[in-house]
Amino acid sequence: MTGTAVVVGAGVGGLATAIGLRRAGWQVSIRERRAELERYGTAFALTPAAQDALDRLGVGAAVRRRAVPYRSAQIRTPDGRVLAGLPLERLEKKAGKPELLISRPYLIDLLLAELATLGGAGVVEFGANVTDAAALQAGYDLVVGADGLRSAVRAACFSASAGPTKVGSVAWIGIADFETDRHGETWGKGRFFGLTPVEPGHTNWYAAVPEGTTAADLPGLFADWHDPIPHILTKTDPAGWLCYEMRHLHPALPTFVTAGKVALVGDAAHAMTPNLGQGACTALLDAEALTRALAHHGPGALPAALHTYDRERRRSAQRTAFASRTLHRIVTTDHTRLRNTAARLLPGRPDGISYR
Ligand SMILES: Cc1cc2nc3c(=O)[nH]c(=O)nc-3n(C[C@H](O)[C@H](O)[C@H](O)COP(=O)(O)OP(=O)(O)OC[C@H]3O[C@@H](n4cnc5c(N)ncnc54)[C@H](O)[C@@H]3O)c2cc1C
Repeated sequence: MTGTAVVVGAGVGGLATAIGLRRAGWQVSIRERRAELERYGTAFALTPAAQDALDRLGVGAAVRRRAVPYRSAQIRTPDGRVLAGLPLERLEKKAGKPELLISRPYLIDLLLAELATLGGAGVVEFGANVTDAAALQAGYDLVVGADGLRSAVRAACFSASAGPTKVGSVAWIGIADFETDRHGETWGKGRFFGLTPVEPGHTNWYAAVPEGTTAADLPGLFADWHDPIPHILTKTDPAGWLCYEMRHLHPALPTFVTAGKVALVGDAAHAMTPNLGQGACTALLDAEALTRALAHHGPGALPAALHTYDRERRRSAQRTAFASRTLHRIVTTDHTRLRNTAARLLPGRPDGISYR
């Protein structure tokens, strides 16, 4: 079926949804409150399933040309000892392709470029802050809320009680202009530090710390942690760091669709803490599943297509969000000895290796 659609929000979820809708023959307009697309953000992980979704949206090959593979990562203690290895090789073997990492600006640019090739150039209306999302229903066959953590579409058309809930941490994030082979996460007491590849010559980093921690506090909090963590925090310019709020949506929504014509995708539907690196992946999976369901259902079957989407994505996305929140609790616990003992039981620890 085809028709007219308005997508609220031009993040990963909104742009991917617009691409899928254009491919299925829909007329689409996107309302984005920002005056232009923000050119910031660090690395996104793309699981094999998210890559498959990108392939079906027609963007997979372009993404693979810019992304880097993520093949080796360990969990460490602050003094550099390895507690466990992430099972990236095993996952790659199973899926037949590696997990990838790509910077947010690249991914946004690639999605915008694909939209332009589908005749969708100019469909993004910038500076269009949607305040009355319920009123959009009168003007379009379909309304998609892809407007993130504080979704106006969710607030207007879905449960008023669901909203962003603090988890007690913020993440300072940045990109350092050197490479390291010490990828993975280092878990301390109430805080952790992550290092991943992002593009040749650079390293993506994030420091999850208690709320209220300023950029000026960071070097002191990690001064005696293993290299290259202190180096990153003392030698890179804090003007390039970003503070990213860590929140999740609570309570979970009973449905991602309503009124036979409104759907939520991405953070609007199931904002999660970034611990599993699934924010962008789940938004892409939502966008692809929603637009595939719309393409497969015949004329007049919009409510049925939305129901199919909800059935395919809601439980899965909410399970991922719950697992991410649980991992956040484990990683930031004060009971580090118990946590580290459990982590050592995970497969993949190269015994005896110390990186200090
Ligand atoms: C600028 C930015 C940088 C980010 N950087 C990172 C990062 O480095 N690492 C990471 O893991 N995650 C980052 N995220 C979050 C990550 O992009 C999302 O968790 C994930 O990609 C899901 O995307 P989404 O499209 O559902 O939501 P989002 O990416 O949050 O996109 C929502 C979009 O909707 C727009 N919007 C919101 N309300 C309205 C409204 N009322 N009317 C019109 N438009 C509206 C927003 O401006 C935004 O463009 C970032 C998000 C943003 C917006």
